[in-house]
Amino acid sequence: MKTAQVYQNKIVVKEFEKVKLNGRKGAVVRVIGCGLCGSDIVKFRHKIVPDGAVLGHEIVGEIAEINSDTKFKCGDKIVTSHHIPCGKCDYCKHGNVSMCRHFKETNIFPGGFSEYVFVSEEHLENVAYPVPPNITDEEISFYEPLGCCIRAIKRCNLMKDDTALVVGLGSIGLLMGEGLKAMGYKVFGCDLIGKRTELANRMGIESYNYKKEVDAVFMTSGADKAIETALSAVRPGGKILVFSSTPQNNGYPNNEIYYKELTILGSYSPSPSDLRDSYEFLTSGKVNVKGLTTVYPLDKIQQAFEDTISNKIFKAYIQITA
Ligand SMILES: [Zn+2]
Ligand SMILES: [Zn+2]
Repeated sequence: MKTAQVYQNKIVVKEFEKVKLNGRKGAVVRVIGCGLCGSDIVKFRHKIVPDGAVLGHEIVGEIAEINSDTKFKCGDKIVTSHHIPCGKCDYCKHGNVSMCRHFKETNIFPGGFSEYVFVSEEHLENVAYPVPPNITDEEISFYEPLGCCIRAIKRCNLMKDDTALVVGLGSIGLLMGEGLKAMGYKVFGCDLIGKRTELANRMGIESYNYKKEVDAVFMTSGADKAIETALSAVRPGGKILVFSSTPQNNGYPNNEIYYKELTILGSYSPSPSDLRDSYEFLTSGKVNVKGLTTVYPLDKIQQAFEDTISNKIFKAYIQITA
């Protein structure tokens, strides 16, 4: 089977031994397509993964082989995410499911940018859903990234009609804005790139005018400068949700947190219940992701990475098997 693998500064399409069930509980899924995540870009650019690694986790596919007591069968089209919390450890008990060791160890194999992947029964039970006919493959591929955004929004524990500012309007910023709207909050957005702000406006995310303070700021931008924007926009007593790494790893100033009684909190990866909400929002049309993706065939995956890095496109979707 064909996979896209990281080799030095390139993504190379290479043969890989086809995944098999080998008596295991779970399914072999033929990957129809896989979204290119910002975290894939970070892993590639900063060489966090070894050569030969297969990136990608935002998959939609069809079950090719199955050995499972779940409701799924061969031929079912499914969407799944890649990590599952144990539900029992101290992290899980405190709701920090993405810090759970089991969560970090579980994955689809070998990675989403592959013609086939092995999905365990645990995935099928906890984080996989059937894809209904009323949604496209590209749209449902936002299932995992939207789940990440929903978790971030829930962690802020906002009140009805609260205002939120999304700093950075790339695909994840737009998705955050869509999630906030769907959950009933008033959303503003800002980005230095004009065409991003324009698209956000068309999606009902108002441009931020830097006059009125907001209850919460969602930091989807990876720029260090964005920290200043967040601090000037958040109201006293408000929250800043950190949702991206930054190159300089700069901190939030101690005294400002103290005197303004700010809450700075992080959010990383979704729980099964956030994913269930994401599935519901996407399939019911409460969240609209139409027209956000640019489709690339697997052979052009290198181009997809480059176009994402140069901000030429919002979100790449890699079409792997038709
Ligand atoms: Zn992702
Ligand atoms: Zn756990």
